[in-house]
Amino acid sequence: MSAGYQTAPRPLPKPGAPPYTDRWSQEALLTPEVIATPRGIAFPDEVPLDRDRWGVLWAGRALKRGQGKPVYGTAHPQRQRSVMRRLRCHVCNGSADRDGRGVLWVVEDRRGDWEDWPEGLATVHPPLCPRCVPRAVGECHHLARTPWVALRARSPQIVGVHGTVYRLTRGELIPVGEETVRYDDLPALRWVLASQAVAALHDCTLLDPAELTDPTRKG
Ligand SMILES: [Zn+2]
Repeated sequence: MSAGYQTAPRPLPKPGAPPYTDRWSQEALLTPEVIATPRGIAFPDEVPLDRDRWGVLWAGRALKRGQGKPVYGTAHPQRQRSVMRRLRCHVCNGSADRDGRGVLWVVEDRRGDWEDWPEGLATVHPPLCPRCVPRAVGECHHLARTPWVALRARSPQIVGVHGTVYRLTRGELIPVGEETVRYDDLPALRWVLASQAVAALHDCTLLDPAELTDPTRKG
């Protein structure tokens, strides 16, 4: 995997430019209201591209990055999914940082949540390149207000989706909340309208924050 390490210089994102995965106000929702079927939710005029390879229905938005105003703290479904699958930096869309210990991630510090935390941690936040770490921890609505840790995950894996879960109650389809649903969680998977991909982080190494600010480090 080290052969894939990108050393060519790439432009820094403009100061203050919204992260690549953030949604813009002109990126309207393109998908219709979902309907209930015996096999879960569906779109009235569905096409195969509306579902991923696990058969999960996805919300779709217009791709008009930079148009209107940034809606900070909200991820654009297609961009978030693409960045997560390709392990790109979610701030600049450059290659996420990778070394022998794995891909660079910054997550909320929940040490103590379980014994070998963060092993197996599920997250909707894609990885980062080292140059975007300061922006991610300073401007991310989530991380700016909470202690965080940097880690490397050697075996990140997409394990499910985050989205709106629907329930059929007395013939009426009702959205009951935003939840993470794993790909092995049937039948729940059939009742979620996905808006973000969820990765589980495996083979993790916690990093000393100084590693991220060492100017001698390549990046
Ligand atoms: Zn970056």
